[in-house]
Amino acid sequence: MTIATTNPVTGQVLKTYEPMSGEQLSGAIERADLAYRQLRGTTIDQRGRWLNAAADLLEAERDDIARLMTTEMGKTYAAAKAEVTKCAAACRFYAAHAAEFLADTPAAAKAVSATRAFVRYQPIGPVLAVMPWNFPLWQVVRFAAPALMAGNTGLLKHASNVPQTALLLEDVIRRAGFPEGAFTTLLVGSEAVEQILADPRVRAATLTGSEPAGRSIAQIAGRELKKTVLELGGSDPFVVMPSADVELAAEVATTARCQNNGQSCIAAKRFIVHTDVYEAFAEAFAHRMSALRVGDPMDDDTDVGPLASERGRDEVDAQVRDAVDKGATVLCGGEKPAGEGWFYPPTVVTDLDPTMRMWAEEVFGPVAGLYRVSSYDEAVEVANGTAFGLGSNAWTRDPQEQERFATDLVAGAVFINGMTTSYPELPFGGVKNSGYGRELSAQGMHEFCNIKTVWIGEGVAGAGAGAHAE
Ligand code: NAP
Repeated sequence: MTIATTNPVTGQVLKTYEPMSGEQLSGAIERADLAYRQLRGTTIDQRGRWLNAAADLLEAERDDIARLMTTEMGKTYAAAKAEVTKCAAACRFYAAHAAEFLADTPAAAKAVSATRAFVRYQPIGPVLAVMPWNFPLWQVVRFAAPALMAGNTGLLKHASNVPQTALLLEDVIRRAGFPEGAFTTLLVGSEAVEQILADPRVRAATLTGSEPAGRSIAQIAGRELKKTVLELGGSDPFVVMPSADVELAAEVATTARCQNNGQSCIAAKRFIVHTDVYEAFAEAFAHRMSALRVGDPMDDDTDVGPLASERGRDEVDAQVRDAVDKGATVLCGGEKPAGEGWFYPPTVVTDLDPTMRMWAEEVFGPVAGLYRVSSYDEAVEVANGTAFGLGSNAWTRDPQEQERFATDLVAGAVFINGMTTSYPELPFGGVKNSGYGRELSAQGMHEFCNIKTVWIGEGVAGAGAGAHAE
């Protein structure tokens, strides 16, 4: 894949990059390893000052960064600005909380015949981050902020269509004061990932992306005995029960499906509606979806910009065509527009069945599947009837149902009367084919720490060896 910035509004290639050679790559890994040795000797306070300085730079340069993101992948300028602000807040969050997250955790010393026993969290070294283009800054920052605070260094292989955003973040982290090599953008295609992961200096990898990319990285990492965190695709359910505020649910459903031009892993994609409120919801939802303004993402009035690539739009269109050819009904949208740019209209499709691609596949664009169910049990069955398990949403004002959904929905997150969102304060990740491991919160930081057991005794014979010396 060519490493290039191509404006999705015009299809025009604006800048291309030569991939790094094997030698350049090895040099970058060497610098990351050296920087790790330096970084692990710094204090949390020092790293926090650098990370807060990175937040200052992101805030000060927000508008320019946002314009670049919009140019590279088509999200609205308003959404891009909000993303930069969110990244700065995440940097500040980890700068403020790292000392607490990395503090030694005391253990029951007496039970293990020690005078003192505790768990210590230590960095592990350079970590490879393979990242997608859809939130080109946020996806990287939510890895980089906790990793750097823990004393690890980052090697970023970003998606090939957002090279300038990747280089910009490297520059911000360097200007914030982190040592040279603490965070490096590797301008390489996905075929270079094997060489990077096989390098003994690289200790682990995190990937946010598609299922096939996840399988490929997990396979290489398995062979190399390296830990991975995988944040993969999703086809999140959005259940609406009879007690829900249907108008509000339809409003939030529209945002949940179309934010980021419909290209979010945690976008609600399957709308599962109880028959008692089905007609009311379908009408309100289709009305709101068709009222969204599609157009130039730099324009303040635009709700939905273009999809990030021509291939991505063709895929979405093919999934809708497949459903229509097999008998699905389109309530709004559904036609690929002619003309320049990779636009696709907000679309609602119903009368879906398991023979259709949309039933089982993730749709990465502003297209909603609408399903009618007649009971709580059927709603849960349809919601869980997918290979994915990233986020999930349920709308109900019945407290008992809220409790049941929280337990019964098989996903990494359940949001009741709201839409799935990521917060630095809460763990983020999936189950089933949506991947494993967690980002954000203390859990996300600990994924790339050596969780070290420390046992201190008085040298009494037998103690410390225990009954089972294993
Ligand atoms: P993608 O094709 O998997 O690309 C993501 C990253 O992986 C890019 O850097 C890509 O590099 C690289 N890559 C692709 N194939 C690879 C391989 N075989 N080995 C190593 N690296 C490989 O995903 P996408 O289509 O750009 O992004 C959309 C997908 O990401 C959706 O499925 C979405 O749900 C998922 N996603 C998940 C989360 C989450 O947190 N769970 C968040 C956002 C997106 P190139 O660009 O060079 O191909």
